[in-house]
Amino acid sequence: MEAARSADERRSGRASRPPRYSAFALLRHGLSGQPWPRVWHEQPLRPRYDVVIIGGGVHGLAAAYYLAANHGISNVAVLDKSYLGGGGSGRNTAILRSNYLTPEGVHFYDRSVQLYDNLSATLGYNVMFSKRGHLTLAHNDASLRTMRWRAEVNKLQGIDSDVIGPAEIKKLAPYLDTSAGVRYPILGALYHPPGGVVRHDAVNWGYARAAAHLGVHLHQNTEVTGIDVAGGRVLGVRTNRGAIATPVVVNCTAGWSTLIGDMAGVRLPIQTFPLQAAVTEPVKSFLHPVIVSGTLHVYVSQTDRGELVFGASVDPFTAYSTRGSLEFTEGLAGNVLQLMPALSKVRLLRQWAGLCDMTPDFSPVMGPTDVEGFYVDVGWGTYGFKAGPVSGEAMAECIASGRTPEIIAPFALSRFGAGHLVGEKGAAAVGH
Ligand SMILES: Cc1cc2nc3c(=O)[nH]c(=O)nc-3n(C[C@H](O)[C@H](O)[C@H](O)COP(=O)(O)OP(=O)(O)OC[C@H]3O[C@@H](n4cnc5c(N)ncnc54)[C@H](O)[C@@H]3O)c2cc1C
Repeated sequence: MEAARSADERRSGRASRPPRYSAFALLRHGLSGQPWPRVWHEQPLRPRYDVVIIGGGVHGLAAAYYLAANHGISNVAVLDKSYLGGGGSGRNTAILRSNYLTPEGVHFYDRSVQLYDNLSATLGYNVMFSKRGHLTLAHNDASLRTMRWRAEVNKLQGIDSDVIGPAEIKKLAPYLDTSAGVRYPILGALYHPPGGVVRHDAVNWGYARAAAHLGVHLHQNTEVTGIDVAGGRVLGVRTNRGAIATPVVVNCTAGWSTLIGDMAGVRLPIQTFPLQAAVTEPVKSFLHPVIVSGTLHVYVSQTDRGELVFGASVDPFTAYSTRGSLEFTEGLAGNVLQLMPALSKVRLLRQWAGLCDMTPDFSPVMGPTDVEGFYVDVGWGTYGFKAGPVSGEAMAECIASGRTPEIIAPFALSRFGAGHLVGEKGAAAVGH
């Protein structure tokens, strides 16, 4: 691999630290009137890279960063047909949590929360991770049983997660209607204090900036149109800007991942569904935790600016369209008002949609494939933003070492043939 940094540099952390933002720099720029330096620079497209990552969302950018920072592999290109963060990574509702249902999932997402804990310091960029607690409401006995199950799996792995009753819920979220006389009364909730929200643009830009600082090339408006495979191994990619030779291609294209898989001759068990979200005008801060109701197909959090961010489950059809629909808004409004009738006068500001790459078991697909040099980091459905750091770290290790790290081994593509599914639907269908 070209351009590998010295092991001493990597150990000392010198290589991985981009320039710091500081109060002094802010003052200096304010007084001088000079424009801020660009966060990263466009680079010429090289004819050859050691690793080509397709997709400039959080997964592609994080994998590129950890390849350079942890393994000294910086002759890496991230190619995106659009702009960095233009896919799901810039459209999500930015909820982070690790209270999943399977031991494999809990272990995996917990590592991501740990990485998010220090991400601002690691990247030298404030990603504004706000641990405000996460409540998944149960409106019937079956949901309550699943919450207890999740709480026990979580606790066994040391995750702070427990089932609480309506009185405690009311203390955490006073505006929730916890009365018994409503159509879907709240019987209890899974409470996960470390859950919260992050600023998704900052995460994308922080990884992009740090990766570029280490020598990674970020190519926007660069669409992959074909992948060259011969003798069972990857030789390169074709793009709208020319061909690139490379022995390693990583598919980080989420909603478009089956199209890229087809180019390499790798069939993925994924279907693409639109997912919509919406945000209101800002109102005075009144909601601290993130609230999720699987039964009502809705979740809500409040931003620091006071807007309420709402989401739901995916649209009920496969599509590559990212248009919002009135059906979504009407359904969402009705469900939100069942939870918090006091919001009836608050106005929606905008709505949007992104694409979600759903797998049959609601778990991702990660690691090598039968085509040598073609790796996948896909199947992120409605829940993949929180997994950006751990996926980037693990995929970088997988590529650099040639071995699949234990933490992503359960998510191998081969599990679908072997029948070893990692069923996360109970923890991932609505609560992202
Ligand atoms: C409305 C909504 C709410 C969500 N809420 C949450 C949440 O609260 N928490 C959470 O954890 N997750 C959430 N998600 C899911 C999360 O956003 C995604 O799982 C995650 O961002 C996927 O990241 P990625 O890097 O894999 O893909 P993306 O960010 O989608 O990036 C893929 C990139 O590939 C590029 N690409 C595609 N085809 C090509 C090609 N041929 N050549 C070059 N580039 C190509 C695209 O332009 C795109 O930029 C939500 C998603 C949506 C839509």
